[in-house]
This record gives sequence, C-alpha cells and structure tokens, in this order.
Amino acid sequence: MRVTFSTAALLLLVITLQHFLSTSALIPNNTIRMVEGHSVHRIASSFRSKLVGRKFSASSPNGRFADGAAAIDGRVLSRMEAVGKNLFVFFSSDVKDEVRENREKEDVVVHVHFGMSGAWAVYNSSGEEEPEVKATTRLRLEEIKFKVNSSSSLSSKGFITHLSAMAVAHGDPSLYSAKKNSLGQDPLRSDADPDFLYSKIAKSKKSIGQLLMDQSYFAGPGNIYRAEILFLAGVYPTTLGVSLDRESFNKVWDTSVKLVRRGYDTGSILTVDATIDPSVAAHGERRYIYTKSQCARCGGRVSSWDISGRTCYACESGRCQPKLNVLPSRPTFLRYGLSWKNCLKMKMVAMLFLPRVPGRLFISRR
Ligand SMILES: [Zn+2]
Repeated sequence: MRVTFSTAALLLLVITLQHFLSTSALIPNNTIRMVEGHSVHRIASSFRSKLVGRKFSASSPNGRFADGAAAIDGRVLSRMEAVGKNLFVFFSSDVKDEVRENREKEDVVVHVHFGMSGAWAVYNSSGEEEPEVKATTRLRLEEIKFKVNSSSSLSSKGFITHLSAMAVAHGDPSLYSAKKNSLGQDPLRSDADPDFLYSKIAKSKKSIGQLLMDQSYFAGPGNIYRAEILFLAGVYPTTLGVSLDRESFNKVWDTSVKLVRRGYDTGSILTVDATIDPSVAAHGERRYIYTKSQCARCGGRVSSWDISGRTCYACESGRCQPKLNVLPSRPTFLRYGLSWKNCLKMKMVAMLFLPRVPGRLFISRR
C-alpha cells in the first residue's frame, strides 16, 4: 500500500511540476513568468493599466543594468509594446502630454527578453510589502509621487516593480524599430502580415518545423505551440517552406492565431478543441502530441526528433499529419539541382539510416 501511495504521490508531483514548467503561469504577488510569447502580451496588458503614465526612480540592484537604470531614472513610463517574446518599455521625459508628442524621439526604450526564467513582479507599496530583491533582479522601479499637501516633498508610496530577465538593453526609439523589423509576424498583433510571412516561407529551404521556431518568421510561438499548431493544421514538420502550399500555410497561420490567442486569454497552453475533438476533450487531454508517445486523437504512434536543438513531435499514423508525396516531385528536385537517379539513391540511404524520420529529406506537397 505504501509503495502504491508513494508512486501516486510522485506521479501527482510530476504532473503538477510539468504543468507549471510547460505553461506560462500567473503566480502570486502579481508576478508573471515568461515561457512562450503569449505571456509577454499578458505582461504588457496587465501592467500597462497599472504603470503607464507614472513616474519612476530606477536602480539596478544586481548592477547588471546600471547604465539603463540611470538613463530612465526620473522618467515617465509612457508606453509598452509586446512583439513575440520581446517586451519594449518606453520612458519619456516628464513633460505635459501635448509637449511629449513632439519629443518622442527623445524617449528611452528598454528592451526586455525574459528567456526561460525571467519574471516581472509589481507591488503596490500602499497595500503590499515589497520583498527583498534577488540576485537576479536587474531593474527596480519605484514610483515617485508628490505628497498631497506639499508639492516640494516626495512620497515613495506607489507601485514598485522588480524585473529579472535573460537580456535587458536600452537605447533610443530606433532600438525598437530595428528590433521589431528583425522579428517575424506575431499572431497576437493586429499589424501582423501573413502575406509577407508566406512570401518569405515560400522561398525558404528550411522545414516548417524549423521556421515556426524561428523568431524572424513567427514571433511568439515556442516548442509546445510548434508541435500542436502543425498537428492541428495537419502539416508534417519536415515539410519544406518552398513546398508548403498557400492553403497549408493558411491553416498553419490561422491555427497559430487561434492557439496563441487562447493562451493569451487563459494564461495556459490548452490546445485540445472540444468542438473538433469532443472525445479527446472528454478524456481530459490538454494537448494532442506534445511529449506524448501516442496521438490523443487517433491513437497512432507519435515520433519525436531534434530540430534546431528542440524536440519536435509528429503523429505517424498518416491520418493527422499526412506526409504527401514522399518522393519529390520534378519541380522540387530540379530546384535543388538533383537528378532523379540521385534522389532515389538518397531516398534509399534515408530509409536505411533514418528509420525514425521517414521522408525527412523528401517531404513535398507538390
Ligand atoms: Zn494522430
């Protein structure tokens, strides 16, 4: 009995840990931790209403953002923008709104990339106790307020924030425009341009599995989304960009928008759609193939392999993510300058040495 109980307890612990490690989680003390792109949009939305328009004193407790803190010290936090996994916070000089409009080029922009373990916590010092800063706290902001009865003395009561992140940089507004232009299309942004994205993908000899994780193509989705987006779009991950037809791309993009929007709304990555797969949802499944060995929809084998350092997943039943035209069509192999004979030879080698990734070299939809 004791063994059974311990095993059950261990299983419960593992499931709980997996849940928190694999989803973005809103945890106590108004702290948002970042794992996938939708979490950054949640930070921007949640904190925009609290912090925009307020003036802050800035410091760098661990000294790793001392220059940036000095540059924004005493400024007004005027704007927040999320692009994929990147957050941009604008600090303006403390002048009236109408004057500020003409002085936007003087803003200081702070670019934050949280990485896998970054966090931003906000406390209201009039109702909450500020905890000790950590060794990872790069930036501490403290709101500057004037006392009600004296315009000359300051009160520190107000919002306080602690930021830890993999990368924090500061610069003028060109930092924002340069970084935004280098990033791909963000499914959560209204200015996303799927036509432009498809024109880039259609020229790429990389697989859609690689491109979905490439932030210069898709800004935001991470590894969990890659597996589930391609599954729901019915596209096999090794399908090359040049071989992805417009209809399949549309399915990938529309699914990206739908899933990432759902992650933004709920704060967790739940991809099973009860309207499409009621029986899968009824079993309490949250995802179709990510970290699974069996497909939650069809029961087929789920294969996994490495693409660009991260594990990629696909249903191998042929029903959920069919691999169309395992042998290349004439236009595809001619594009690569391969003769038909050499293609057949490479196919034989692939079948012999890459049994777990059949068709990896030759996926084509044309
Ligand atoms: Zn399946």
